[in-house]
Amino acid sequence: MADRIVRAISTDGMVQAAAICSRDLTERARQIHKTLPVATAALGRALAAASMMGNALKSDGASLTLQFKGGGPLGTVLAVSDNEGYVRGYVTNPHTDLPLRPDGKLDVGGAVGHEGTLTVIKDLHMKEPYVGTIDLLGGEIAEDVAGYFVESEQIPTACALGVLVDRDQSVKSAGGYLIQLMPGAGEDTIAKVEGGVMAAGPVSAILEQNDDPEALLRTVMSDFDLKILETCPVSYKCYCSRQRVERALISLGKSELEQMLAEQGGCQLTCQFCDAVYDFSADDLRALIAGL
Ligand code: ZN
Repeated sequence: MADRIVRAISTDGMVQAAAICSRDLTERARQIHKTLPVATAALGRALAAASMMGNALKSDGASLTLQFKGGGPLGTVLAVSDNEGYVRGYVTNPHTDLPLRPDGKLDVGGAVGHEGTLTVIKDLHMKEPYVGTIDLLGGEIAEDVAGYFVESEQIPTACALGVLVDRDQSVKSAGGYLIQLMPGAGEDTIAKVEGGVMAAGPVSAILEQNDDPEALLRTVMSDFDLKILETCPVSYKCYCSRQRVERALISLGKSELEQMLAEQGGCQLTCQFCDAVYDFSADDLRALIAGL
């Protein structure tokens, strides 16, 4: 099934939830960045979370960034979503390779690192973006995202994210869910959410059986009557363009560009989010300089 997000609310109005199936966009990220399995899993989890969180921002042109800096061998894990849930991202060291954990799972926490921060940037196209930073809880991504909501937004949240990497290193399944209590939800609601999360088990196993995000939500929230609000297609999407790269070059200033022209002739820039390469010949650089 194509990647998509499903949003739902319990009919009693106490719980809102989103679930995502993100296999294709995670596989696309793997191909662009040539990530090894533990990096695929870390980036895939971050992309899934960013997509669900970005999709929740309804204002046009808004964006959401998740930045994990955990001090581990992966370096920074960055994921950016637009307000529809279309995402892009990267990790600093995509070829990080770590032994599996004793339980046979990929050691995402060890690769991200445990000592550091998660920063969430919501750019709603107002004057200043909203920036919230928390200390990482373990670098496994999902619990850190839940921790962010509890600490920074005071919203009790359950989050699960999973990426299953196949033997040939391609992405077999990916996705997750975000379940949040609405104001006024009581202990009984919390107990029902926690019970559902425990009973459902690991999210990547559920998605491997059935990659339908609505089915995932109905499994985890089987104790609730759910009203499905919307289903949104999502994918890996970069917004780079030759025009944007030109603007970045121009922002370097005239002397920097003249030096580049003198020393290298032209220049070649690769987008950090996708595999696009932008070539600027000596003539292109001269034209940019002339326009300054
Ligand atoms: Zn790009």
